[in-house]
Amino acid sequence: MRLNNREIVVKKFGGTSVGSIERIEAVADRLIADYHKGEFPITVASAMSGETNRLVSLGNQIDPKYRGPAYDMLVASGEQVSIALLAIAIEKRGFKAKPLLSYQIGIETDNLYSKARILNINPDKINKLVSENIFPVIAGFQGIDTENNITTLGRGGSDTSAVAIAAGMQLKSCEIFTDVPKVFSADPRLVPKARELDKISFEEMMEMASLGSKVLHIRSVEIGAKHNVRIHVRSSFESRTGTWIVPEGEIMENPLVTSVTHDPSTVVIKLNPVPAGAEFLAELFTELSNKGVSIDIITQSQHEQGQRLAFSVTEEDLPLANKVLDQILKGKSLERTTMDKMAKVSVVGVGMRNHPGVAARFFKVLAENKIPVHLVTTSEIKISAVIDQEHLKRSAQALHTVFDLDRV
Ligand code: ADP
Ligand code: ASP
Ligand code: MG
Repeated sequence: MRLNNREIVVKKFGGTSVGSIERIEAVADRLIADYHKGEFPITVASAMSGETNRLVSLGNQIDPKYRGPAYDMLVASGEQVSIALLAIAIEKRGFKAKPLLSYQIGIETDNLYSKARILNINPDKINKLVSENIFPVIAGFQGIDTENNITTLGRGGSDTSAVAIAAGMQLKSCEIFTDVPKVFSADPRLVPKARELDKISFEEMMEMASLGSKVLHIRSVEIGAKHNVRIHVRSSFESRTGTWIVPEGEIMENPLVTSVTHDPSTVVIKLNPVPAGAEFLAELFTELSNKGVSIDIITQSQHEQGQRLAFSVTEEDLPLANKVLDQILKGKSLERTTMDKMAKVSVVGVGMRNHPGVAARFFKVLAENKIPVHLVTTSEIKISAVIDQEHLKRSAQALHTVFDLDRV
């Protein structure tokens, strides 16, 4: 979309990209350079790196199980600081800028605190600022519910703010600036031989995000796919092209496996015995999902006393999951075990759809490396296993090699 003869581009800068005053000044320089190239930037910023963790830990010191408006108000405050600093840096360079919190532009969400979903974005205010040549600098991660409470979108949620704003403005793409130059075939911090990907499909990126890859927030990819907003993940330190997330049909060749993805901190909860039948399971998983806890692996087996149940949640969701379990299991006598220090390692690729044998190779690698597997799940385009954290690096690197992903 063009306005005042300029291409409007939503640009999101993550925590490291605004992690210091020097970085914030560099972002301001980049925005102005883009302006001189004929773009008009709409900026979305995260909190300075480490800040949201600090805020979360302050809240946890008082009550780790608390979730509600006060928690969201607390953790959303980091973005207020970074957008204000960025707006000052832009104005110092002779341009007009306006820092904006979600209530000022109407980023409406539901009231599922700490995991809210965006319902609506009104583009009028942003368009008006652009038409007046004022740079909007918008706080990522936050929204506002119908009662004017501040809500937050879940950790990493600024990506979702940016893509939703691009969708709300009917733009065809959105730029996500981060601390890596591309999406890689594995997290380069874990697998140094990871290869750069130029393009990846929405479907694969969604699986990667849901399996723990931090590079994009899953909702951002879902919104991009639904509203046809292509996502360009690129470095905030370099100017070269990054990775484009595009519809599957636009990728000519699909390797069997595109990436090895991991979640470094998964928790497995085991309950034994729970009442037989599907009723208890329905009650438990409905309550967990109502609280926004996403469960991704469930195993169940029947025995004389009832059934044995195991499921995995992310470490971030553990306090919420425990709260739900405390309520539902009140008065029931059963064994409840929480296995922490677990990790999840997965392989993802749309190429798996048409090629059998990936599961066999996956488990062979784990067996050869003597890595015990605690839970397993598969879909059309992924296989994942929960393993002990201590084996994560070794298994991710071995899988990366076996599926021919190592950089040559
Ligand atoms: P930001 O603060 O910019 O949102 P994040 O830390 O949320 O950045 O996401 C970027 C990080 O994602 C990288 O530093 C990298 O360690 C991690 N990551 C995980 N998987 C991948 C992958 N497949 N490709 C690139 N980065 C990945
Ligand atoms: N600042 C938030 C977080 O650390 C949102 C984000 O970085 O995307 O989770
Ligand atoms: Mg992020």
